[in-house]
Amino acid sequence: MATTGKIGVTTENIFPVIKKFLYSDHEIFLRELVANAVDATQKMKALAASGEFSGELGELGVRIELDEKKKTLKVIDNGIGMTSEEVEKYINQIAFSSAGEFLEKYKDQLSSIIGHFGLGFYSAFMVADKVTIETLSWKDGAKSVKWSCDGSPEYEMTECKKSDRGTVITLYIADDEKEYAEKKRIEGLLGKYCKFMPVPVIFGKEQEWKDGKYVDTDKDKVINSVAPLWTRKPADLKEEDYNEFYRALYPMGEEPLFHIHLNVDYPFNLTGILYFPKIKNNVEISRNKIQLYCNQMFVTDSVDNIVPDFLTLLHGVIDSPDIPLNVSRSYLQSDANVKKISTYITKKVADRLDEIFRNEREQLEEKWDNLKLFIEYGMLSDEKFCDRAMKFCLLKNAEGKYFSIEEYKKAIEEGQTDKDKKVVFLYATDVESQYTFIEAAKSKGYDVLVMDCQLDSHFVNLLETKVENARFARVDSDSIDNLIPKEDKEKPVLTEAEQEDLSVIFQAVLPKENQYYVQADNLGADAAPILITQSEFMRRYREMSAMGGGMNFYGEMPAMYNITVNMENPLVARILSAKAEDVAPAQIIPDAAEDASDDVKRTVTEAKETAAAAHKADLEAFAGDNEILKQITDLALLANGMLKGKDLSDFIARSAKVVEDAYLK
Ligand code: ADP
Repeated sequence: MATTGKIGVTTENIFPVIKKFLYSDHEIFLRELVANAVDATQKMKALAASGEFSGELGELGVRIELDEKKKTLKVIDNGIGMTSEEVEKYINQIAFSSAGEFLEKYKDQLSSIIGHFGLGFYSAFMVADKVTIETLSWKDGAKSVKWSCDGSPEYEMTECKKSDRGTVITLYIADDEKEYAEKKRIEGLLGKYCKFMPVPVIFGKEQEWKDGKYVDTDKDKVINSVAPLWTRKPADLKEEDYNEFYRALYPMGEEPLFHIHLNVDYPFNLTGILYFPKIKNNVEISRNKIQLYCNQMFVTDSVDNIVPDFLTLLHGVIDSPDIPLNVSRSYLQSDANVKKISTYITKKVADRLDEIFRNEREQLEEKWDNLKLFIEYGMLSDEKFCDRAMKFCLLKNAEGKYFSIEEYKKAIEEGQTDKDKKVVFLYATDVESQYTFIEAAKSKGYDVLVMDCQLDSHFVNLLETKVENARFARVDSDSIDNLIPKEDKEKPVLTEAEQEDLSVIFQAVLPKENQYYVQADNLGADAAPILITQSEFMRRYREMSAMGGGMNFYGEMPAMYNITVNMENPLVARILSAKAEDVAPAQIIPDAAEDASDDVKRTVTEAKETAAAAHKADLEAFAGDNEILKQITDLALLANGMLKGKDLSDFIARSAKVVEDAYLK
């Protein structure tokens, strides 16, 4: 006898609500139905294992059948089935009240919630306009039941002829959801959501190549691997197994650098395998590749809010039934379990790196350049990780040798401690363009690090706060003696007027687009006549603000260079004595008397300005004519890669003449 009734949701029509809010995520219906079928199958296994069921278990599995013509999709299992009371209880009485209100509140998270509030089965109505359940319970004497519903809150229940244990769910795919009646689409969905489900999921037949085309064989095609790598014991697995699994997850990906096998069952349950991918200078493309599973059922591939930001750069899978999927994503972070999980994963990652550092140092060095960005990002964004990483983080010098931070400090301590007892870490950001400076440092017996990665300007700042008694200086930020000042050296003494003259003549021959601060120093007779450097402080802040560090004030300023004139260099001496000969000293006009009239004062001020301008013009004319001055300035610019365009071609022409004069005359 058929019974009819109304499905027990408090909101009159839940189906329109489901349809509306799940619009973007219709496809998850298949995951929900397969997950239910898998559950029913596993429960059957458990019953047999406990001895409660002693009959024939059969080959347990889930079968998906698609009839593309009739547009029906069946999910078939030989699990525990349901009695009519159970259908009444689990299907007809939807398990919570005010469903509509609930859906409204959590519409953004619905795809993850849906399986957790007894709505899983009903998601079938997102794609079907009629759904039937035919089921026979495992229980002795149970009668088979057929339930059917066309999407209105009314259902029909009758006895039926199903004679084997289990459940068949049939979906009559709606016209506007035709894609779900296509083999390719279903295959795709099974691949996405069911690839690692714990019981065999069968869809179609294995194919073979015959007479020039692929044809079905008799063999069922199992689309999943029931015991994916993360569920197995690390001791039973080889490196190659992990690499193969990585390839299965990311067919287009490059070989990973290292892996971590996660396995914990207290105080929360979590398994998984994480991989360190090769990260070059593009962080974004590596991001968000970790797949989150719940008991081998795919949930999502966005794990932000579950792991710290820098760990979203890792790849792999995390499987945990303890990550609550029924709360909003922003709330996730404050969930106690998620916090524990996040801490655990961070710790595991640090432990693993530490272990590699201690036991596989060679490997670590070999892969360091590809790993560095990840570790620096972690150290910059996660204090705890940073403290642990200080032990295994490597530094690379210009010779390509790797050191831990502590090793490096020890190695340079003796030679590179300055007069204030600070150990100075010299670094270059570009080995090619800073070659001259690196060589200058080496000739002093100093060592130079290479810091050429995207985050290094931030990272250098971080290390300065973490390494005791240390300071970082880029090799080209000052003369080598000033970078690591050993004792207070005597500076040349210049009057204000001499200093001003020096500044004017050099500014006159330097490119106009930058700003310069000209200073005199004693660098030794053999050292270059002038040195162009950029202050460490200014440069770092300009770089960081260019990367979006928020310090825009520095970013907008013109580039500022220090011009150090080596007063001990004989060429400089030549220029200055020529200047003394050619340019008359500035005319000195006495100040107006304090009680002089305003007119007189104005006249005196104007006369001073005129005299200063005349003197400046004289200096500039001198500078413009002085070949040595131009030549040494251009050489310094050239050493810094700053000589361009017309200035460069003038320099070449001038140099050609110098060579001619030297060799031919
Ligand atoms: P959930 O699976 O989240 O509990 P569902 O709406 O998907 O919510 O299913 C409700 C209940 O219906 C399940 O808990 C289970 O008891 C029963 N059920 C659903 N599908 C099956 C099935 N294929 N075999 C046996 N029982 C099922």
